[in-house]
Amino acid sequence: MECFLKDRQLISLPAHVDLTVCSNCGEFFTHGEWAVMRPEDAISNAVRDEVTAIKEARITGAEVTLVPLDDFNYSVTLTCQVDIDGYQTGAAATTVLRIKNGVCKRCSRKTGQYYEAILQIRGREKKLDPVLQDEVLARVENYVDGTAERDRDAFITKMELVPGGVDVYLSQISLGRALVKMLGDDYCAQTDEAAKLVGQTADGLDMYRVNYLVRLPEFHVGDVVFYQKHYYKLFRVNSAGGRLVSLKNFREMPVRRADMPELRVYAKRADLEEANVISRSPGEIQIMDPQDYSTVDLLVPPAAKPGDKVQVVRIDDVLYYVPE
Ligand SMILES: [Zn+2]
Repeated sequence: MECFLKDRQLISLPAHVDLTVCSNCGEFFTHGEWAVMRPEDAISNAVRDEVTAIKEARITGAEVTLVPLDDFNYSVTLTCQVDIDGYQTGAAATTVLRIKNGVCKRCSRKTGQYYEAILQIRGREKKLDPVLQDEVLARVENYVDGTAERDRDAFITKMELVPGGVDVYLSQISLGRALVKMLGDDYCAQTDEAAKLVGQTADGLDMYRVNYLVRLPEFHVGDVVFYQKHYYKLFRVNSAGGRLVSLKNFREMPVRRADMPELRVYAKRADLEEANVISRSPGEIQIMDPQDYSTVDLLVPPAAKPGDKVQVVRIDDVLYYVPE
């Protein structure tokens, strides 16, 4: 065995090994995909991928040492344990690793304004309340950020203010589909979708872009609404519909999703008045009318524990307590 091994080069590396880094996000391309990794790990992977051994030898372990030559070039030595028919020996090979700049798929798509879906967020009557717009966009961004942690191809290409709302351009159809479902359910909103054939992929498949429309209703949790001739606080909204609390007797009632469009907003949650509480007794409080400072008795739910300030709403010149 000694003489078989004498002067034989058991393992070898090419003179140069190239490693591509995305010049935009810093991810490395190894093992056929882009990934976040420490430079030394990427270099080690790239060099290990290129090592070859003579056919009698099997590499059972390898260690990498790097010496930087400059910012883009490293001298890399691979020291291997080698098994030849049960005989253990060591072998080493050295190469120059060159770091090359490239652009990963996601960055090239991002800079190329790539999108597969548009989420069209609209309000009623060509108006989208700015507070609601910020709330919805924050939820959209939050959802896409969460997805991007698992799937690096998920991103928001751009957001565009348009008459009546916002268009959110998305890198994946699946993002649009998930978001329109989420917003439709959470706000009891009307939704719609329309696909458009835009061409063919390199492998001959039809390529679509999908517009997902979500038309947000005027009502929002916390608003005082008018429904079937009575006034309520809109207490909750979900995919099944809503829950209302009567301002007269504080009873709760459900509203089916199909009936939700009948809700009329009487006062937005931000426009409710605030009143100072003067005294409390079970089922009733005394407050100071915020407009004329007179003392007013208000009914409250028996279990309510009002603080020093409560929300009130004025309906036909009469003040009502708005439950928390
Ligand atoms: Zn990149």
